[in-house]
Amino acid sequence: MQTIRELFKIGPGPSSSHTFGPMRAAKDILASVPDAERFEITLYGSLALTGRGHLTDSILKKTLRPKKAEIHFDIHTQQDHPNTMVIKAIRPDGSSVSKTYVSIGGGKIMIDGKLPEAAKDIYPHTKLDDIQAYCKENYLRLDEYVTQVEGKDIDLYLKKIAKAMIRSVKDGLSKTGTLPGKLHLDRVAYALYESAKTCDSPADRDALLVQSYAYAASEQNASGGTVVTAPTMGSAGVLPSLVYHYSVDLGMPDKAILNGLKVAALIGNLIQENATISGAKAGCQAEVGAACAMGAAFVASINRLSNEQIESAAEMGLEHHLGLTCDPVMGYVMIPCIERNAVASTRAIDAARLSKYLRNVKKNRVSFDMVVKTMNLTGKKLPMELKETSLDGLAVVVMEKHGQNADKASSESKN
Ligand code: SF4
Repeated sequence: MQTIRELFKIGPGPSSSHTFGPMRAAKDILASVPDAERFEITLYGSLALTGRGHLTDSILKKTLRPKKAEIHFDIHTQQDHPNTMVIKAIRPDGSSVSKTYVSIGGGKIMIDGKLPEAAKDIYPHTKLDDIQAYCKENYLRLDEYVTQVEGKDIDLYLKKIAKAMIRSVKDGLSKTGTLPGKLHLDRVAYALYESAKTCDSPADRDALLVQSYAYAASEQNASGGTVVTAPTMGSAGVLPSLVYHYSVDLGMPDKAILNGLKVAALIGNLIQENATISGAKAGCQAEVGAACAMGAAFVASINRLSNEQIESAAEMGLEHHLGLTCDPVMGYVMIPCIERNAVASTRAIDAARLSKYLRNVKKNRVSFDMVVKTMNLTGKKLPMELKETSLDGLAVVVMEKHGQNADKASSESKN
């Protein structure tokens, strides 16, 4: 498993696999062929089908500017991975270099079949069962295990991540109006936040506050704003909403927030290592499901629950998203993505609370590793139409209901 620095990254939304990964690919080809005059780029699979809505073409052109980039969307040729692209760099004398990039999720890319040099494995374990046994033997909490592997300077990195997460929520709360794109979806984070403040019931108020923060970060992402991959950009509302709530609303100390982020990242890393965090590979269970597991582990860690209870919280967070499809309407990371982040944020808190009490009354039969394995198997069985292609599910039903007139659809379907 790689460093958690590779999991949490700060960058432009709306999609880690369709925006951040392609941006990295464009930077790589610029560095590899600096004398190229222009580029021909072919996007395949999910990148071709939802690339326009996910702004893949815009980020490629922007990164390669002022050089010219011609982009082709090939929806027919099958590739081994659904997020494959080929970039041909052409020099002034007509000679060229082609490289194949695969955006594997969370902004990570493979270049001509290999991971870049910086992303080598550093963790000695790849299963939570083994990590738990090691921690038990060495009297370590899960956050201490992460520090042991990553080194003490990981705290500095995570401070930056926590700050960027809080910033994404603050920025989202400060904006009103309409999100870019043909859905013309209203930003509602601020309105939700205001509603939360007038709730009579403290429980409702807290839940709605957290959900408004998830809306805020997700709306920032949907508008191409700066967010943190947690573990992806489509799911970048869940963990930041919790970081904001525990840090800003409840005033938890920085150390508790950083330890919570370590545990959350460990959970995300294990999901990526043993399954995937790519919606194009396994549907939304791999994105928002993974984010909910990370969020649940974060909340459990903040509440000083045991390693077993943290595992149980993460396991519940993922288990109850199993089978969740990815069917973004018109290819935008908006419907169902934004609302889904909000629902998962409070689900993470529920999972952490339940894990605290459930362990006292029953033994857990389903481990986190088992659920990750199940998510991977389920993802393989999901049809391609429900894995970030916008060819079925809500992407079809919502458009059937509202017709192809996106302007009309947007005004009637305020998600
Ligand atoms: S439905 Fe889920 S996996 Fe698909 S784009 Fe939206 S957030 Fe990402």
